[in-house]
Amino acid sequence: MSAIKEPSFRESVDMMFNRAVALMELEPGLEEKIRVVNATYTVRFGVRLRGKIETFTGYRSVHSEHMEPVKGGIRFSMGVNQDEVEALGALMTYKCALVEAPFGGSKGGLRIDPRKYNEKEMETITRRFAYELIKRDLINPSQNVPAPDMGTGQREMAWIADQYARMNTTDINARACVTGKPPHAGGIAGRVEATGRGVQYALREFFRHPKDKAAAGLTDTLGGKRIVVQGLGNVGYHAAKFLQEEDGAKITGIIERDGSLYNENGLDVEAVYQHIGEHGGVKGFAGADYAEDGSKLLEAECDILIPAALESVINLNNADRIKAPLIIEAANGPVTAGADEILRDKGTIIIPDMYANAGGVTVSYFEWVKNLSHIRFGRMQRRQEETRHQLLVNELERLDAFMGEKWSMSPDFKDKYLRGADELELVRSGLDDTMRIAYQSISEVWNSRDDVPDLRTAAFIVAISRVAKAYTAKGL
Ligand code: GLU
Repeated sequence: MSAIKEPSFRESVDMMFNRAVALMELEPGLEEKIRVVNATYTVRFGVRLRGKIETFTGYRSVHSEHMEPVKGGIRFSMGVNQDEVEALGALMTYKCALVEAPFGGSKGGLRIDPRKYNEKEMETITRRFAYELIKRDLINPSQNVPAPDMGTGQREMAWIADQYARMNTTDINARACVTGKPPHAGGIAGRVEATGRGVQYALREFFRHPKDKAAAGLTDTLGGKRIVVQGLGNVGYHAAKFLQEEDGAKITGIIERDGSLYNENGLDVEAVYQHIGEHGGVKGFAGADYAEDGSKLLEAECDILIPAALESVINLNNADRIKAPLIIEAANGPVTAGADEILRDKGTIIIPDMYANAGGVTVSYFEWVKNLSHIRFGRMQRRQEETRHQLLVNELERLDAFMGEKWSMSPDFKDKYLRGADELELVRSGLDDTMRIAYQSISEVWNSRDDVPDLRTAAFIVAISRVAKAYTAKGL
């Protein structure tokens, strides 16, 4: 991708890891044990399609088993390779540790262009890949639990869950073998938008920290902030939409595969998303400046840049031209180790991937717990909560009548207070809490130690120390 030679994605993650461990006091040798990839399984399998056998290559990499099951998505893309799944698996280890999801790190991938196949063919290929992983316990509710990633979604997860159930007919926890399933197949409310929602909650929490905001030269709230988003896929779309609709941010730029759109007054995210759905790209969208070379917009003046697509898009070739004072990494690994250094020297603040996009795995954790407990969140307590709230409302109504003109309940208080939380509300609350607490733990390290130069190093320190503790507790 870049003209200047850079380390590979996995090497880049390792370099960032090394910078953090240099500031830690770990037992000799433990650092290496944590850094290395435990195992990567490569499978090549044939599927008969359109009268001919096609051979596919897939991977499932397990980075760390300090906690089990291990967790991480399965990516369907032509860019998939061993180095990439290993880098992504390592990031999963640190991500889970950071948000206190009790999992080790893993990642999978299949080298495929999903657009080349119809639904039936995709089902055959996905089930075949899943079969190869299931028979080696690389998909298993207590050992390895995949989830969606680029090129996969609810549909693929439902096929994988069903394939596992067919091969493990007596496993009562079969549904917990994969997360990101559709609601009717054991999924959880709010999982599809979880990563984007997590990006929104991460930014909100960042803006609650005056010192951190000031480091990026930003003030006030998210309202009116100019944001450029790269990639309007599941993560970018939801993040941009929520930030625009709920926080009043201005999405001034959107970068997609076929080019970019810019409007200094803000773009209507939903309208752009619909346009992409209808026309296959952003070109032709009315009311914005279109440019064919979309990557140039990464360098635009804005307050916040959200890379939400591929890895290594901010690299040695463009890092010094990036003007955004704040970057939030909605994608995994969008900034290379070299670019990271250039940006740090320039004073750019980066909210790192292992925290910023952890909303997905956080809600996956809730889904896995739901599957193991075989009951939807809120089912037992919702009406009981409402009944108790009704008691208070009854008393307030008596008071209301007694006080006459002097006092009355606020107009929508009763409706809001009476309603018990459903699964979606509980998921959002759990995600919000997770994102706040995780940010606080990183920010604390960043602000309290002079030798910690940035949020990424702080995040690595928090995550690595948790993994180290888990290994020590295991008696390693
Ligand atoms: N693929 C997502 C990620 O990179 C989600 C992983 C999961 O839910 O297990 O974090």
